[in-house]
Amino acid sequence: MKIERISIVVPCFNEEAALPLFYEELENTRKKLKQADIEYIFVDDGSKDKTLAVIKKLAKNDEKRIHYVSFSRNFGKEAALYAGLQYATGDYVAVMDADLQDPPELLPEMLSLIRNQNYDCIGTRRVTRNGEPPVRSFFAKQFYKWMNRISETEFIDGARDYRLMTRRMVEAVLSVSEVNRFSKGIFSWVGFDTYYLPYKNKERVAGETSWSFWGLVNYSLDAVINFSDLPLTFASFIGIFSFFISIIFLIFIVVRALLFGDPTAGWPSLVTIFLAIGGLQLFCLGIVGKYLGKTYLETKKRPLYILKETDRTDEDKDRRL
Ligand code: UDP
Ligand code: MG
Repeated sequence: MKIERISIVVPCFNEEAALPLFYEELENTRKKLKQADIEYIFVDDGSKDKTLAVIKKLAKNDEKRIHYVSFSRNFGKEAALYAGLQYATGDYVAVMDADLQDPPELLPEMLSLIRNQNYDCIGTRRVTRNGEPPVRSFFAKQFYKWMNRISETEFIDGARDYRLMTRRMVEAVLSVSEVNRFSKGIFSWVGFDTYYLPYKNKERVAGETSWSFWGLVNYSLDAVINFSDLPLTFASFIGIFSFFISIIFLIFIVVRALLFGDPTAGWPSLVTIFLAIGGLQLFCLGIVGKYLGKTYLETKKRPLYILKETDRTDEDKDRRL
């Protein structure tokens, strides 16, 4: 059996503290992999700290294995993942966070599963969420529950971005070049057989999470808009529903006027109805606007990221199998 190459794609945003620990752990794991070798693709997502310098220092001692891509500013983890996949040359590609929340010790098992069981992707799934604020866990749970109801793409509760993919799956993910990326959805959308390896949640080794609560809310809204058009249907439904209600009211008022005459009372109820309908209209307009906004950004076809520097040459890229 020939030695196969595994590319480890690591998006890094302000990870100067975590990176040396990450590299050390991964090097330990590397020795346990059979018939396989690792190349690292560190993607510096416009970090404000010394992340790039740390990567370069690591690369100096391990030139053949360590490669890096650096962005001109922070473009977000999704863009970093995309760039990493583009620059990876391996037969298999793994995507991993730099903070060691994705346990490297799972790699040997993932590799043997993907080799022997005919899967194209071995994903990972957190079965516990210890160390996370309970509010965040609660909302995450609700998110997966509802997302699966309103979207045809499957969303696995607790699934991480941490996964090992075959080359053909990577090419499929790269072929989805939309700007508004929600990778978890894209991984699932491209299809192929995926097996989810369960594991217990781990806390970050160093540095801190770049996600705020509202950041996550926004991220989930992105997911909804990217993978479902149900909110639009919902908006039309509200429209039709209030139209029917108004017809019933109309009949009621006409009949009442015929039977009892028309004393000019009832303006408070009128104002209430005005406000309610106005509110619903704005709400639905907002939903439509969200989709329109996303469409607008998508039609600009801006690149997903701007490259500042990389050590990868075109020859490296040609080594892609
Ligand atoms: N990350 C990134 N760009 C960003 C934010 C995060 O590349 O704009 C990277 C970060 O360095 C880490 C991974 O994405 O390797 C996951 O980030 P984080 O640990 O903050 O997220 P959490 O684990 O809390 O969901
Ligand atoms: Mg993390």
